[in-house]
Amino acid sequence: MKNSLSYLIPILALVHTTTAWSECPATGESNVQLQILGSGGPNGSGERASSSYLLWVDGVSRILVDAGSGTKLAFDKSRANFNDIGLVALSHFHPDHSAELPALLWTSGGNFRISGPTGSDAFPSLESFLDSLFGEHGAFNVVSGRLELDPFTVDVNGADVTEVWRDGEILVRGRSVPHGTVPAVGYRVDIGDYSIAFTSDQNGADDSFIEFIEDVDVLVIHMTASEDSRGGTGRLHAKPSVWGQMATAANAGHVVVSHISASSPEVLRTNLGVLADNYSGPVTVGEDLLCVEVN
Ligand SMILES: [Zn+2]
Ligand SMILES: [Zn+2]
Repeated sequence: MKNSLSYLIPILALVHTTTAWSECPATGESNVQLQILGSGGPNGSGERASSSYLLWVDGVSRILVDAGSGTKLAFDKSRANFNDIGLVALSHFHPDHSAELPALLWTSGGNFRISGPTGSDAFPSLESFLDSLFGEHGAFNVVSGRLELDPFTVDVNGADVTEVWRDGEILVRGRSVPHGTVPAVGYRVDIGDYSIAFTSDQNGADDSFIEFIEDVDVLVIHMTASEDSRGGTGRLHAKPSVWGQMATAANAGHVVVSHISASSPEVLRTNLGVLADNYSGPVTVGEDLLCVEVN
């Protein structure tokens, strides 16, 4: 079987790279770092965990975005501490973004704000999701005694921007993203002069999202579809050209490619080429545990 590192070099040769370390927190120009816990999507992810990200501020792990499968192992490897986490920001309730939450909290417990979307006929709201896990009759009620959750729901029925969490210099906002009929939230985090946005899974069909992510230093995109993707993948996920156009229109300083579900290294390389045709700024291809400076 081909080792993932064997195709990392040609992929990296194709894109610009920026300051990245194998471990967070690192000592760089900025006090804000993004650590990718899971750079994969729901399938075809090889050795990648599903979606999850940590934001380190002043060397402390403050925000966890998403908790897909594999997050627990990566979180432990990162040596982050759940007692430092002030916000768990869930984008949506597809399992590759939220399934590992109980495992994460089983031994750590925690006292934090947790955010997620309103529900629909097919998907739970944040409140019913949490109740089904940790409520009186929840599947993991055994964890609930260790938790002090402060749930915060982002209304995704319109395009309103909602303040999700504020702590000192940290401001987190959320708004809806178009992910087929799946209620889903995109997040933007501003910390002093630094900013980072998480697109979540989306098809890129809502131009008003561009204003929300305008001028971010780092834009984390979820690249699952190829240019010729059809069916559910094409309906739910933006094509590489759409991601590139979005990043260019938003004047994003740096794009981090994640939620990688390409069927082969060649497909990933092709998709990155299309992205580069549409966005001329620096691009980093996500790897689990990679630490990226936000500056
Ligand atoms: Zn996903
Ligand atoms: Zn999804």
